[in-house]
Amino acid sequence: MRFTRLRLNGFKSFVDPTDLVIRDGLTGVVGPNGCGKSNLLEALRWVMGEHRPTAMRGGGMEDVIFAGAASRTGRNFAEVSLHIDNTDRLAPAAFNDADAIEVVRRITRDAGSAYRIGGREVRARDVQMLFADAASGAQSPALVRQGQISELIAAKPTARRRILEDAAGIAGLYQRRHEAEAK
Ligand code: ATP
Ligand code: MG
Repeated sequence: MRFTRLRLNGFKSFVDPTDLVIRDGLTGVVGPNGCGKSNLLEALRWVMGEHRPTAMRGGGMEDVIFAGAASRTGRNFAEVSLHIDNTDRLAPAAFNDADAIEVVRRITRDAGSAYRIGGREVRARDVQMLFADAASGAQSPALVRQGQISELIAAKPTARRRILEDAAGIAGLYQRRHEAEAK
């Protein structure tokens, strides 16, 4: 599964429809302060089913909707769409019948979030499951948040080990070992 395109509409500072083509080898986004780099990463987490407003630097989920600027009035919805290349057929069985998959999340003021996969309305859980086994997902260690590197450097050794184990994908092994030992 490879992400090929991220489309934002009314999401945070991206009030006008914005299309980001994701080519092989993209590892970072650069630009002046406040241009929306962190917002882009948040849009990616959000469309994958992130449900914690704090992970979006907001107080409530609706804070992702464009709130207005000096010359523009606010919006009443935000939508993010993610195109996935599935020619490797690594998507979970329920969604694995196509070469390309589009995941869309839309939030409307006072009406909450709605999700679609391939045009079909689905639950948040279905979207989270789509990414669960693909080393991606909203909480994937592959997405490095701003400030996370300095947190890693400043962390106590045990906390740092935890972060690195998460990144290496072996945290689950400890969980299973503890469960086995408890039996
Ligand atoms: P830095 O280099 O400082 O980390 P950045 O490129 O990561 O900057 P972001 O944090 O992504 O920038 O974008 C910040 C901008 O997004 C601010 O101008 C902020 O006002 C705007 N913004 C955030 N949420 C909303 C919203 N809901 N509506 C309108 N604008 C928003
Ligand atoms: Mg930033």
